[in-house]
Amino acid sequence: MMKFAADLHIHSCLSPCGDMSMTPNNIVNMAYLKGLDIIAVADHNSALNLPAISKLARERDILLIPAIEAESREEVHVLCYMPTLEAAMLFGEYLHENLPPVSNVPELFGEQVVMDEADVPIAKEEYLLVQSTLLSINEICEKCRALFGVPIPAHINRPSTSVIASLGFIPKELHFTSVEVKNTLPPPNIDLSSYHVLYSSDAHYLEDILEREMFISLKEKSIEEFLAYIAKQKL
Ligand SMILES: [Zn+2]
Ligand SMILES: [Zn+2]
Repeated sequence: MMKFAADLHIHSCLSPCGDMSMTPNNIVNMAYLKGLDIIAVADHNSALNLPAISKLARERDILLIPAIEAESREEVHVLCYMPTLEAAMLFGEYLHENLPPVSNVPELFGEQVVMDEADVPIAKEEYLLVQSTLLSINEICEKCRALFGVPIPAHINRPSTSVIASLGFIPKELHFTSVEVKNTLPPPNIDLSSYHVLYSSDAHYLEDILEREMFISLKEKSIEEFLAYIAKQKL
């Protein structure tokens, strides 16, 4: 087993709440400067910035786990880690089809910019990404798993949009094997001994990306090994 420094929850400038400095190059270069081995970029309900980030990460020998932070109609944020870029794009399309057609108001929420690998804006997402999809948390987990991804509840110690805040508990029937805890908030007051716990930044600004502080032990630095680890039942 080897230990890898990771930050598994970073937003890009596609998320309206993500700072405009969160461009593909800036995210990857900051992760490189901070010495990270593995990163996951998980924008709200969309995968459209992953192609550029994936290419840049590969050039820096950083492993990018393709991810999306999906929001269920119960207002629960679920991190969906996907096996390939293609699977993430398909999952993103599915979420888009299930987004209420509410337009983004950039002055209120921020821009939603898709960039290429030179940080050139190539598109803007029209639908507001920071809203609940029409999908239940069950449907999100089912679709994610059908595409061989692994869903885990995001920032369970956050006072809003977390499974604890919105549902009051972690539903057993969703078979979560891992949970995410936001690094800057007090830990949740529940027994997490049966889960793998991932501490991540949920960074919306470059400076919030983790340094070498959260480590994950894997046989090798690959998406396959990462997904196998977080999907494996603990105990
Ligand atoms: Zn969230
Ligand atoms: Zn987030």
